[in-house]
Amino acid sequence: MFINGEWINRKDIEVKNPYNNEIIGYIPSLSRNETKEAIKIAEEHKSTMKNLSPTIRYNILMKIASELSKNKRELAKLITIDVGKPIKQSIIEVDRTITTFKFSAFYSRELRGETIPFDDGMVITKREPVGLVGAITPFNFPLNLFAHKIAPAIAMGNSIVAHPSSKAPMITIELTKIIEKVLKSKKIPLGVFNLLTGEGHIVGDEIVKNNKINKLSFTGSVEVGESITKKAGFKKITLELGGNNPMIILKDANINKAVESCMSGKFLNSGQVCISVGRVLIEQEVADEFINKIVEKVKKLKIGNPLDEDTNINSLISSDSAERVEKLINQSIGQGGKLICGGKRENSIIHPTILEITEDNILANIEIFAPVLPIIRVNDMNEALNQANNSNYGLHSGVFTQDINKALYFADNLEYGGVLINNSPTFRIDNMPFGGIKHSGLGREGIKYAIDEMSEIKTIVVNTK
Ligand code: NAP
Repeated sequence: MFINGEWINRKDIEVKNPYNNEIIGYIPSLSRNETKEAIKIAEEHKSTMKNLSPTIRYNILMKIASELSKNKRELAKLITIDVGKPIKQSIIEVDRTITTFKFSAFYSRELRGETIPFDDGMVITKREPVGLVGAITPFNFPLNLFAHKIAPAIAMGNSIVAHPSSKAPMITIELTKIIEKVLKSKKIPLGVFNLLTGEGHIVGDEIVKNNKINKLSFTGSVEVGESITKKAGFKKITLELGGNNPMIILKDANINKAVESCMSGKFLNSGQVCISVGRVLIEQEVADEFINKIVEKVKKLKIGNPLDEDTNINSLISSDSAERVEKLINQSIGQGGKLICGGKRENSIIHPTILEITEDNILANIEIFAPVLPIIRVNDMNEALNQANNSNYGLHSGVFTQDINKALYFADNLEYGGVLINNSPTFRIDNMPFGGIKHSGLGREGIKYAIDEMSEIKTIVVNTK
């Protein structure tokens, strides 16, 4: 689609607005051979990127951030019609993307090494780019998650091939136009950055398998992530995958704060967030108070057109997704889950839903990726900890307590990539290390940490005696 500075404009795949099913654009579906050719071109541009000075890489990244800032509202609107995300949340995504580029610019000047003395001289280390980065991204944060791969890759001096989700590719085309403009203004050959649209099982699969790619950075489902571990061969890989993120509420917690945090943590982008609240584990003594308060707030959420400023709940990415969620809600109820509110589907919209379940219920163990909140009562903090850890996932967890000793006990013992104290698992800032353990992923993102994974340490030994 954008390969070696040339735009390919075939209309192979229809892209639809998930809210009203209107066609909003078309993208080409690249063949395996076209993908291979694009990868070959990007490989030939490795040395161009490696030889750019830190100042030029800094200027490229800052200029992209500044171009994004000029057109925030229009970019946010495009995210909204592509993903269905409420406009106020899309505006936040554009702002975060600008920050991601600015942080990457900062780190492009901070690629430090070490010196290690020994008896006859010293060892010097330096970071070098891996060469060619292959980036594959999901639909739910189509701009910022894309930026989390390409901005650190540029900061480190790597060339890039990037595949956006064909469920929501339009915003990455706008970003590519900005990148094209910025690279041209700096007279940098355009083959350093290539946008490869098409079907994941063809374009994505080729990026995964192709041995010209030195580093694969993938964000998406556990299912595709697991298949990648079996076919990527000798390349570095980062996998940012799904989760069922527990939010633990102890009886000494500030319940009002927990309710507020759970509302934003669960219903952001209608629950289509990898670090969305997966289940609440709450001590018996405060469960009724929490449930009453959160149900009251959930009933006030506005479902509707995501372009309206006051819409909170939008459609899921497709009616297939909504049908899958409807089946899971029914399955949960069939297993004894108690429906407290919601539970209804209208086309691709799932009404915000709360269920009370037990540990053995389907919803305690899967990633639902929808505005569905399962709540489990527990007898004490040990039961909460055991249930939280009894999971194949290990992305983020949250703990609400006013007791610092209990908070630190959970921080030490929760088997998750991130533990958030007095916050929902859904909190993220763009420069913190981010990623999961177990089936939730391999490696870390968060600019500096992504740069580490997109570089190699070269060791230089200097004998002075
Ligand atoms: P997905 O279906 O796994 O798709 C992710 C990307 O992989 C898309 O670009 C997709 O392309 C591509 N793909 C599909 N099949 C492939 C294959 N066989 N080989 C290589 N690439 C392939 O995920 P999604 O539905 O877009 O996103 C939701 C999932 O992403 C959730 O599980 C969520 O938890 C996870 N996620 C994780 C994080 C994190 O940072 N941990 C962040 C956001 C989302 P096409 O769409 O074009 O087929």
